[in-house]
Amino acid sequence: MTEKKVRVRFAPSPTGGLHLGGVRTVLYNYLFAKQHGGDFILRIEDTDQSRYVPGAEEYIFETLKWCGLEPDESTQHGGSFGPYRQSERKESYRRYAEELVAKGVAYYAFDTAEELDAMRNRLRTAENPSPQYDRTVRTQMRNSLTLSKEEVESLLQQGTAHVVRIKMPEEETVSFTDMIRGEVSFDTSVVDDKVLLKADGMPTYHLAVVVDDFLMQITHAFRGEEWLPSAPVHVLLWRHLFGEDKMPLWAHLPLILGPSGKLSKRDGAKYGFPVFAMNWKDPKTGELTEGFRERGFLPEAFINMLAVLGWNDGTEQEVFTKDELVQKFSVERVHSGGAKFDFEKAKWFNHEWIKKLPATAYSQKVKSIFEEKGLAIQDDAYLEKILELVKDRCTLLPDFWEHSSFFFRAPKTIDFAPVMAKWNSDKKAFFTALGHPLRSVSDWKAATLEALFKNLAEGAGIKPGELQLPMRLMLVGGKFGPPVFDIAEILGKEETVNRIEAALEQLP
Ligand code: GLU
Repeated sequence: MTEKKVRVRFAPSPTGGLHLGGVRTVLYNYLFAKQHGGDFILRIEDTDQSRYVPGAEEYIFETLKWCGLEPDESTQHGGSFGPYRQSERKESYRRYAEELVAKGVAYYAFDTAEELDAMRNRLRTAENPSPQYDRTVRTQMRNSLTLSKEEVESLLQQGTAHVVRIKMPEEETVSFTDMIRGEVSFDTSVVDDKVLLKADGMPTYHLAVVVDDFLMQITHAFRGEEWLPSAPVHVLLWRHLFGEDKMPLWAHLPLILGPSGKLSKRDGAKYGFPVFAMNWKDPKTGELTEGFRERGFLPEAFINMLAVLGWNDGTEQEVFTKDELVQKFSVERVHSGGAKFDFEKAKWFNHEWIKKLPATAYSQKVKSIFEEKGLAIQDDAYLEKILELVKDRCTLLPDFWEHSSFFFRAPKTIDFAPVMAKWNSDKKAFFTALGHPLRSVSDWKAATLEALFKNLAEGAGIKPGELQLPMRLMLVGGKFGPPVFDIAEILGKEETVNRIEAALEQLP
C-alpha cells in the first residue's frame, strides 16, 4: 500500500498583520511537509466577511515570500484543489450542513437577534455572565428541534433567515490524539451548539475548516493552541461527514509568551520590540505595528529564531539553516508548554546570521537603508567589501550605517578629545610628513601600510600605538570602526591622504 502524500495547510483569516506566532505555525507546517516530500497549502479563510481587512491577504503572501516559506498551492500559486479562498467555495458548504441536519446532528435555528439578546438577558447571572446557546438553552428557542416539521418547512419555504447549529451530544467524551500533546479529551456537555452555517449562507470557520481539510486531502495540520477548544466540534463534524479515520493529525502549538503572559501585539509597543513579521498599518485606524523585517532582521535569522521557539534538536545547536531545519525538525521534540519570546535572543540570532552569510546576501537591503538616509551607493562591489569588513560588529541591518557610512563620507566633525592630552608637535610633524611616503606606496594593502607606519613611527621615535588612535580619528571621525589599516586600504590612497591632511588643519 502506498503511503498517503503528506499535505499540510496554513489557513489564516485575512484580518491583519501576521504575528510571529502565526509565522511559526507556517514554519512548522512547512518543515513537516518538506521533510516528508509533501505539499504545503495556503488557504485563505475569509468566510467572516465582517472581519475582512483589505491588504491583509497580500501581506500574508509577502511575509511568506520574505521568509522563504512559499506555499506549493494557494490563490497565487494555483493547484488542483482550488479555489483556495473560502469565500469562493461558498456553494460547497451548504450541502454538508444539510447532510448534518438530515442525520440529526445539526439543526436549523430561526432565532432573531432580538430573541437571542432576550435569551442572554434572561439567563445572565453572576456565575454565567455570557449565556451560550447550548443543550440546556436549545429547548427554549425557535429551532427545528422545538418547532413542528410543518412549521420548519414553511419557515424554510418562506426564506426565513436561519442558521444551522451543531447539536452537541450530552455527556459524551470526545477525544483525539494530538501529535504534541498525545490523547486530548473533552466533555461535550460544556461545549455550546456552535453555528455551522450563517444566515448569509456562508459557513463558519468550524464547518469550512473541516470540509476544506477533507476536500483538499489535508493529512496533518499544525495550528495554534487557541484552536484546541474548538477541536471537539471538529472531531464530531469529521465523524458525521467523512469518518474520523480521515481526519488530519493535528498538532496544537503552544502559545508564545511575552514578558507578561501571552505575547500580544500590544507588548511590542509597550516593550519596544517587533511582534509582527513585517510592518502592518491598520487601514481603518492607521495604527502601525512594527515588523521584524523593518527592524533589520534577516529572514534566515527570523525563521531560525522561530524554529527554536518551542523546539530543539536535542543538542546544543541553535543556529540552523532552513535545509537543516527541514532535515532535523521533529514533532516529538516540540514542547507542549508555552515558549518564552526573548528579544535579546532574537537579536543574537540576527547577529549570528549577519556574520554567517556573505554580505552579498543582504547588501541590497543595506543599500536601501543607506539610500533612505540620503547616501546613494554607486559601486555595489565596494559596498560589499565594506560590509564584509564590519559585519561582525552589526546586530541589526541599520547598524551598518554607524559602522560603515564613514567609508562613503569623510567625517564632518572629528572628536579629537581622546587624543588631545597627549597631542604634541612631534605627532603633528609625523602626520604632516606622512602624506609623502603614503603617496609612494604601490601596494596599497593593510599589511603594507601597517608595516610602513610602524617603521616611520619608530624612525620618529614615537610608539606606533600612540599614533594609531589619532590616525583612526582622522579617517573615521571617532573612536570606532574596524582595524585602522583595513579602513585605509578600503578608502584608498587618495582619500586616506586627503582625510589626514584635512584633519591636520583642525589640530594645533
Ligand atoms: N482560520 C483559522 C485562523 O485564522 C485557522 C485555524 C486552523 O488552522 O484550523 O487561525
